[in-house]
Amino acid sequence: MRSISILGATGSVGASTLDLIRRDRAAWKVVALTANCSAVELAALAREFDAECAVVGDEACLAELREALAGTKIETAGGRAALCEAAARPCDITVAAIVGCAGLAPVMAAIERGGTLALANKEALVSAGEVMTAAVQRHGATLLPVDSEHNAIFQCLQGNAVEDVRFITLTASGGPLRTWSKDRLNAATPAEAVAHPNWDMGAKISVDSATMMNKGLEFIEAHYLFPVGLDRLRILVHPQSVIHSMVEYRDGSTLAQLGPPDMRVPIASCLAYPDRMETPCAPLDLAAIGELTFAAPDEDRFPATRMAREAIAAGGTAPATLNAANEVAVAAFLDGKIAFTKIAVVVEDVLAQSDLAPQSTSLEEVLAADDAARTLAERLLGKHAFA
Ligand code: NAD
Ligand code: MG
Repeated sequence: MRSISILGATGSVGASTLDLIRRDRAAWKVVALTANCSAVELAALAREFDAECAVVGDEACLAELREALAGTKIETAGGRAALCEAAARPCDITVAAIVGCAGLAPVMAAIERGGTLALANKEALVSAGEVMTAAVQRHGATLLPVDSEHNAIFQCLQGNAVEDVRFITLTASGGPLRTWSKDRLNAATPAEAVAHPNWDMGAKISVDSATMMNKGLEFIEAHYLFPVGLDRLRILVHPQSVIHSMVEYRDGSTLAQLGPPDMRVPIASCLAYPDRMETPCAPLDLAAIGELTFAAPDEDRFPATRMAREAIAAGGTAPATLNAANEVAVAAFLDGKIAFTKIAVVVEDVLAQSDLAPQSTSLEEVLAADDAARTLAERLLGKHAFA
């Protein structure tokens, strides 16, 4: 029996993880399950999986959680510190599936405990790449990538030397608005932006996928996970989402990982690592898919990948600033406050107007940059808001 904690258990990645565990209940002991505020949903999961503790990040939701778990032995807690305490509880594997930089402190708490961290929460690594990778080394933790592209690359690198890598190619579906003109993009609604053709995901990452900022964040994520040099990282649009990424070696061999667009595949690869486990995913039917197509990204209509590349090349607090500005802009777009195309404008303006530090070597520096970028982005939203 192995023990597991899931940070962000009520989300899309959390649900996919619990679906795998539900299929083999006897093999898993659930330690901590967390959510931001969906107390009733979290309580139901904690009961079903007989969790040791259930924690809400938003303290205002704790009373509801307590009420929903009254009469059980499940411990309850609420607030930012409680999330970190839950993440620090001993377990064999922690799945980090909180969305946004809000997941950074709990991720750091899990890393400091040592052990294995399956990371979906890319914003944490993007914001604090240097701090987090140093902490992984220092505490002897194992970082396994859940993000499908990075999980693909991780698999393609097994048994090979990083020095032999010529290129790493991150594939991108291009999102639901891939073929839209600039004019049409201006008028894209939240419902259109989250309607991803291949993947069923949370709202924030779905919008990121539509702007291509998801691929920008993943470019930065790849740099920290697989430091082969920025000039060896490439992005390729592949609308079918069958090839999840590729590694080309110096002898001309390219290894790719293929699979259905179902997060249970990369999650299972982390849960069972270095072994394999069964998933309910249908076998890959390439004859039925028929065609795999590829195109270069269009950074004129989708400037996010260019901005992300520039931010990681600048280093220091630039990636944290890019990420925080994007989180604020995406939330404003989902709230109907700004147009789709203004997301990139807000991010670009925040980066241009921020006091970027050339280094970010502590968690405090990262969180300060995150905070400053949010404040600036909120201020700039007014300028770009719908009249
Ligand atoms: P989601 O919105 O469906 O779920 C997010 C989870 O985090 C929920 O449990 C929510 O309660 C919790 N949460 C949100 N804000 C919080 C806060 N401030 N404090 C504490 N908890 C909070 O998101 P998702 O789609 O599951 O994505 C989770 C992470 O995984 C993101 O970083 C995303 O980029 C990454 N990811 C997701 C997918 C996918 O298919 N959904 C694929 C690859 C990577
Ligand atoms: Mg991905």
